[in-house]
Amino acid sequence: PTEDYENLRRRVYSNTKELWYYINHELSKVLYDDNKVEKIKAILDQVAERKRSLLSDQEKLPELDGYHEWRQLEAANVSDLVQRRLHHLQNPSDCRDARKLICNLNKGCGFGCQLHHIVYCLIFAYATERTLILNSKGWRYNNKGWDYVFHPISDSCTTAYDDKVLQWPVAYDAKVVSLPFIDSISQKPKFLPLAIPKDLAHRIVRFNGDPASWWIGQMLKYILKPRASLQKAINETVAKMNFKTPIVGVHIRRTDKVGTEAAFHHIHEYMTHVKDYYDQLELTRKVDVRRVYLATDDANVLEDARKKFPEYEFLGDPSIAKTAATHRRYTPLSLTGLLVDLHMLSMCDYIVCTFSSQVGRVAYEMMQTNRVDASNAFFSLDDIYYFGGQNAHDRVAVLPHTAGAQQEISLQVGDLIGIAGNHWNGYGRGTNKRTNANGLVPWYKTADHLVLYPFPEYKEVPM
Ligand code: GDP
Repeated sequence: PTEDYENLRRRVYSNTKELWYYINHELSKVLYDDNKVEKIKAILDQVAERKRSLLSDQEKLPELDGYHEWRQLEAANVSDLVQRRLHHLQNPSDCRDARKLICNLNKGCGFGCQLHHIVYCLIFAYATERTLILNSKGWRYNNKGWDYVFHPISDSCTTAYDDKVLQWPVAYDAKVVSLPFIDSISQKPKFLPLAIPKDLAHRIVRFNGDPASWWIGQMLKYILKPRASLQKAINETVAKMNFKTPIVGVHIRRTDKVGTEAAFHHIHEYMTHVKDYYDQLELTRKVDVRRVYLATDDANVLEDARKKFPEYEFLGDPSIAKTAATHRRYTPLSLTGLLVDLHMLSMCDYIVCTFSSQVGRVAYEMMQTNRVDASNAFFSLDDIYYFGGQNAHDRVAVLPHTAGAQQEISLQVGDLIGIAGNHWNGYGRGTNKRTNANGLVPWYKTADHLVLYPFPEYKEVPM
């Protein structure tokens, strides 16, 4: 490790103590203060400042520890390996003879949801060593099919010929299998998200803080390759925008989602986190313009945001939002705009969104493919990251806890907690699988429990 690294590490340690000295002293004093409200507000501002400084310092650690380039190289290598394995799986030497998995792209839902449907099918194909055949004629985003907008997911094997099609579940040697939607699959296989391949896990965790979404991102990377005409349309729209870093992406999902699948969130809620991002960034560099890329399906948000936050520069295309907002949402017309939004969001330094929306989650998954580690490059106003239809998401207790305040549950080190969500107040809700108790868990006493599944290792593809 470098000298800079050691110094910074000691600084973080020391400043963590300083934070406590400060809070302990000020809050003890405030107990006896007549002007409590004002005093507490001032203390909160000071604590926020100290927190930003601590986080800012810690973000620099991986750049200074001497492994920065190693991580970049390793991330590129593991991604390349996964892409080559997928290419190998999707292009068998004898297509007629190959075992296959059929997925129908006829799910009645938005584009994010459809992408995730294909991701699910591709993970299934990878886990069961079957070539994925995508049936997409009559697809709502292009009647002629997926291959008219995107490059096909196979160059050489796109039909199951006239072979008999069996419904999953089937025996290993069944030749052609058709897959139901993830929501209706009986006996969910253990290889479904958030599981990651065991043979790659110990490489991925050394450069990425959220391997499950990294793995899902790799599937997207393989699938999502726009054809020339679509790519041209995307490039032209992007070229018109003054896209420059630093920039924060904001995704605001409204219209049909609000009140049915998610709560309404005011623009101020998103902007609080944008401000926090820039306040922290300004500790290490000068920021001339606070840029925000705004993606939304609500035609009024962009104008509203510009009016309410004149100190920010908002990028975004009002016509994209308008198209998304109208009845044309799930049509070919809306596809280019959505791909522009997804591309732009994924290129931002940081995104503020709601993970209840598949658009927000796809943007994050794409970020995971265009940098070494995007696991700290987002804030979700509602859900923690998940994959629709996933197997249980557990956290594991790394510190013991004795239930104190109402609603807390007790933990022993090693307990698995099925997680419902993080309340972003220091606590999350979950069920201790050992005791069956459900309640609040101090998040810092738990860590994400990675599920490693023995996927096939594709030894025929060179490392
Ligand atoms: P979810 O409903 O938000 O979970 O995500 P889906 O992708 O399944 O469906 C939402 C649909 O609304 C998308 O596919 C888009 O057509 C549209 N939409 C939502 N947010 C945006 C946005 O920020 N930009 C654009 N262009 N379209 C959006």
